[in-house]
Amino acid sequence: MLFEKIGIIDENFDFKKDMYVGVKDDRICYIGTQKPEENYGRVYDGTRKVLIPGLVNAHTHSPMTLLRGYSENLPLDRWLNEKVFPFEDKLNCDRAYYGTMLSVAEMLSSGTTAFSDMYFFQDGVIKAVKESKAKTNFCRSISSFTDGEFLKESRVIETLDAIKNYHNTENGRIRIDWSLHSEYTNMLWMIEAFGDYTKDKGFITHIHMSETKSEHENCKKKYGKTPAKLFYDSKILDSKCLFAHCVWIEDSDIELLKEKNASIVTCPASNLKLGSGVCDSNKILNSGINLALGTDSASSNNGLDMLREMYLAAILPKGINNAPDIVSPKDVLKMATVNGAVAQGRYDCGIIKENYKADLAVISLDSPSLYPDFDVINNIVYSAEKSDVILTMVDGEVLYENGEFKTVDVEKIGSECNKIVNEVVREISL
Ligand SMILES: [Zn+2]
Repeated sequence: MLFEKIGIIDENFDFKKDMYVGVKDDRICYIGTQKPEENYGRVYDGTRKVLIPGLVNAHTHSPMTLLRGYSENLPLDRWLNEKVFPFEDKLNCDRAYYGTMLSVAEMLSSGTTAFSDMYFFQDGVIKAVKESKAKTNFCRSISSFTDGEFLKESRVIETLDAIKNYHNTENGRIRIDWSLHSEYTNMLWMIEAFGDYTKDKGFITHIHMSETKSEHENCKKKYGKTPAKLFYDSKILDSKCLFAHCVWIEDSDIELLKEKNASIVTCPASNLKLGSGVCDSNKILNSGINLALGTDSASSNNGLDMLREMYLAAILPKGINNAPDIVSPKDVLKMATVNGAVAQGRYDCGIIKENYKADLAVISLDSPSLYPDFDVINNIVYSAEKSDVILTMVDGEVLYENGEFKTVDVEKIGSECNKIVNEVVREISL
């Protein structure tokens, strides 16, 4: 496919107009101001359109879209214990498949090409990812509330099965990470055994960390140290880590995460909606830590819209710091693309550059809210909406275009999700 006379966000995250971008197989093969001689097949008219790197949702729980609107206006602990856990008790692989399909459709229609997904029912989730041709780093979250032996724990066994069956499959679109759900949902023996086991295996570890003040303070009371220090001492940070939230991390934690080259993913909407606080992303960016962006689940957000998340990520740090000149739109665009790809260990994704994977989205500039186009990057971050996304491509294949999904039958999936929720609610009340 050849994008002709289209605006692009180039590899330095500057805007360039009237460019030609050629895609062959799963890669970007040509970028230039002149029409290439080589034939790239379909020619796409780029008039008043911008090609951006596909957005990377670096922290979500895709089957939880089934819970959208089900549990509202509660703090994290009550939200989890009173609503989410009883609902999840009634899920299975089949139900998780439908929830994931719905999530993938929502993500594709808002420009997201890859996501880091923490959940269970892996066969259902991965079936949906395969069918929809999305790109995901999936992890089976591990929690532990009783004594046990690491390699005999069912969640550990499931992770090992996922690695065996799915890691690096579908042209590398599917990868498996390791995951501890969090410090507060695990016993010390598991945290230490997890660190010992994963430290030299070369996988990414995905963990919720310091999301709420009480979680962070309780860890200090229990162990005399912060969750970050606990994970550091347990060798978990010796693997490449991705920590979701980090609303309450301290300056000393930032130093530890920086030393170990960890990534942080901030989820501003979820943190606001659950009343957890605001992550000081300016401080994290200034430390040099790789900072990515995620929506968290549609149950605590309540959408998977990375453009809305970008808007929040751009304005919240300014508000809490009384400083309008921090966290630039370019910083935010990087957080939502290349930083997410780096957090996923996908070093050939997230940038519009020759030989990089063709994970791309097209934003139309036709909406009244995107005129005048004096500064396109400012407009994308502060003004664009998901309805402005008109094409999404993963590994060189168009999966969404002008309201049409190529791999997901949204009407069918949506009505199946409605049916599942009604069944689950009935089962809970029995
Ligand atoms: Zn989460």
